[in-house]
Amino acid sequence: MRKKSEPLPPHLVLTPERKVKIAEEQAKLRAEAMSRGRLSPEARRMQIAAAHETSARADVEMLSEELRENRRDKEKIARLMHARSRLAEALALQGRYHEAAEVEPDKDKRAHYEMMWSAVWRVDEEACECEPFVDGELELTHDFIAEEVMSQKHGNALMPAIKCNSCGFQNVKPLTHELQQQQRARSQVAAVLHGYDAKHLKHNAAAMLTSEGLHDGKLLRK
Ligand SMILES: [Zn+2]
Repeated sequence: MRKKSEPLPPHLVLTPERKVKIAEEQAKLRAEAMSRGRLSPEARRMQIAAAHETSARADVEMLSEELRENRRDKEKIARLMHARSRLAEALALQGRYHEAAEVEPDKDKRAHYEMMWSAVWRVDEEACECEPFVDGELELTHDFIAEEVMSQKHGNALMPAIKCNSCGFQNVKPLTHELQQQQRARSQVAAVLHGYDAKHLKHNAAAMLTSEGLHDGKLLRK
């Protein structure tokens, strides 16, 4: 395994080709924004994450370069570790968990990215063996939506990471019927709590989410 203070492995350093590719992807996203008037949630996520990736990667490269001169500069090593974590977050936000696991210096976070990468590629039907709750005629699993992730397996669509709150098993897959109903019930409860009716919700959903702080910036700061 790589030692923490070592610079990035060569295959993760941004090559001129990769820089061109990123510029192309960003141009494509801008074009999409102009033609549609607004970005899809996927495009918006990719645009934010790509900007963070570019900035974190520039810091990683600069600090790695500076550390080549003096490998014992503790303050710089700490800054490099932080920059690598930021780079990992930006990659994870794009669903590039395998790359995130490569750059993340913290072993718990690295384990999380590795787990998410397997959760993305798992067969959609695969589930844990936890027994469901049974309440009269109702049978409920322990599943809930842990987060929404970009899934390379599902054509880079935003997909729920469905997690069992009993054993922690996760699978990134389309919503089950049960979870769809749970989501609907939750938003109805939220609406009642806030005193909104359905029409208000429909027209103000985006603004309400922003006022709750549920925007991509929040995801990034997690
Ligand atoms: Zn379970």
